[in-house]
Amino acid sequence: MKYLAGYPPALLAQVKQQIDSPSGLAGLLRKRYATAHEIRTDRALYDYVNGLKSEFMRNAEPLHKVAFDSKLHVIRNALGTHTTVQRVQGSKLKTKREIRVASLFKEVPEEWLRMIVVHELAHMKQREHDKAFYSLCTHMEPAYHQLEFDLRLYLTHLDHGGERLWSADDLRPQ
Ligand SMILES: [Zn+2]
Repeated sequence: MKYLAGYPPALLAQVKQQIDSPSGLAGLLRKRYATAHEIRTDRALYDYVNGLKSEFMRNAEPLHKVAFDSKLHVIRNALGTHTTVQRVQGSKLKTKREIRVASLFKEVPEEWLRMIVVHELAHMKQREHDKAFYSLCTHMEPAYHQLEFDLRLYLTHLDHGGERLWSADDLRPQ
């Protein structure tokens, strides 16, 4: 269970039990999260991110780009990426703020999208994954740690060959 490395053994034993149960991780996740959000485009994502930013980080510098990125790996890129791209414009060095969100987050519950966006916004103030960083995350989303854990359960489910649980195909009229 590579996506759950570092969690306490007792908790992992419970996860293992759930995997082996008839409904599996899918049953647990479907019960906790009924539907996916409907933010499908970069434009909609930009508005969503800016909504959270103006609620919690009014004074942070403006975001230049917000986009879904199909090449991002969720965990390898630490649950998203946060880059400060420096471009030389004339003699001035300009800093551009970008937030990219792995495209897996197009088809997940809204709570998980909010969790990943909160993560990226927190990096605008805290670079490292340290205590100050996570207290900023939980300030913006009190359930942050639970949501990250549940996302990791979903990745574990997919890693074991499970089907996508909130695919956009399910939302289309039959
Ligand atoms: Zn990070």
